[in-house]
Amino acid sequence: MLDLHKIRADFPILTQQVNGKPLVYFDNGATAQKPQVVLDAITKYYSEINANIHRGVHTLSQLATDAYEVSRGKIQRHLNAKHAHEIIFTSGTTHGINAVANGFASLLRAGDEILVSAMEHHSNIVPWQMLCERTGAVLKVIPMNEKGELILSEYEVLVSEKTKIVTVNHISNALGTINPVEYIIQKAHEVGAAVLIDGAQATPHLKPDVQAMDCDFYVFSGHKVCGPTGTGILYGKEAWLNKLPPYQGGGEMIATVSFEKTTYADLPHKFEAGTPHIAGGIVLGTAIDYLNEIGFDAIAAYEHELLEYATQKLLQIEGLRIYGTAAQKTSVISFNIGTIHPYDIGTIVDKLGIAVRTGHHCAQPVMDFFGIPGTVRASFAFYNTKEEIDTFVEALHKAVMMLS
Ligand SMILES: *Cc1c(COP(=O)(O)O)cnc(C)c1O
Repeated sequence: MLDLHKIRADFPILTQQVNGKPLVYFDNGATAQKPQVVLDAITKYYSEINANIHRGVHTLSQLATDAYEVSRGKIQRHLNAKHAHEIIFTSGTTHGINAVANGFASLLRAGDEILVSAMEHHSNIVPWQMLCERTGAVLKVIPMNEKGELILSEYEVLVSEKTKIVTVNHISNALGTINPVEYIIQKAHEVGAAVLIDGAQATPHLKPDVQAMDCDFYVFSGHKVCGPTGTGILYGKEAWLNKLPPYQGGGEMIATVSFEKTTYADLPHKFEAGTPHIAGGIVLGTAIDYLNEIGFDAIAAYEHELLEYATQKLLQIEGLRIYGTAAQKTSVISFNIGTIHPYDIGTIVDKLGIAVRTGHHCAQPVMDFFGIPGTVRASFAFYNTKEEIDTFVEALHKAVMMLS
């Protein structure tokens, strides 16, 4: 059981009034709020140990470097990666996917195939399309059904000797579907394909075990797990990270540089060119610690309760249709009410202090599949409450009255 009272007190932003009403923050799928320990850790870094890392012999530089590497170790343990050097700090999920896609340019030939799923975020579609343009590889799509579940029998037909990489999200940001990643990975490995899992939407809700999953790459964003924006992680199996060329050139990622030839640094530095978001990387470790102290089992159980409660309340609203009704689902509800435009609903509930996302959620192909321009999306975190859901449902009733 979560101590909701204590948890909510950890998040200063939640006590705010927005448009004269208590804030109800249901846009956690876009970014999560930050607990006081994270805010304090940012201030502490800049006020006590700010220095550039991996360079100086001076004390502050060593303290900053140590703190950065301690955080890398925390994330290694959190993901159950085999080695700390398999953990690459990035600026976010988008950066991680682009780094891998860029690396694959040297490994692909015309006619090779890349498999994505029908429910990917744009950041797990566009880098692969760019890669196809560069290499002549072909993008294939694993289809989904009306519930928003991947059709595995179709996947089994699509995955073949031609497949070089399969890239799917662990949890869909638009529909909330939890994908059977273990099975997808196993089938891909049978044909020798690599697998990247986009964990941006999963990491706020569960603790991934990259070795048990056996994925080759796993990426996520710090800002969705209560950490700072501009931070993220690319996990890659050592052998794969050694095989891929670096993404960016610059300082930190080299062993030696001359005008004739440059040699690259060992992992993880090979993929960490330039001065990183040092404070962010350190504080991402603080955020992960915070979530682990609450416990992911407790978080998942409570969020599931919120999902069930909200689903049942929302379905009582006449004309409301939920998009994404997979059997395995996290606390994301995408919906429309009759023919009312999602933007109009978002605007009215915002006046009542409620933050939801409206639009295509960076997943236009998902909206095209359902033949809609967008949805209203309410995404819950462990600090949300059933009372907030009641406030939201009341606000939706008002919106319907005003708009129809
Ligand atoms: C948010 C999100 C992304 C993109 O993350 P950024 O932090 O914008 O790089 C990618 N995939 C999924 C599933 C997401 O939810």
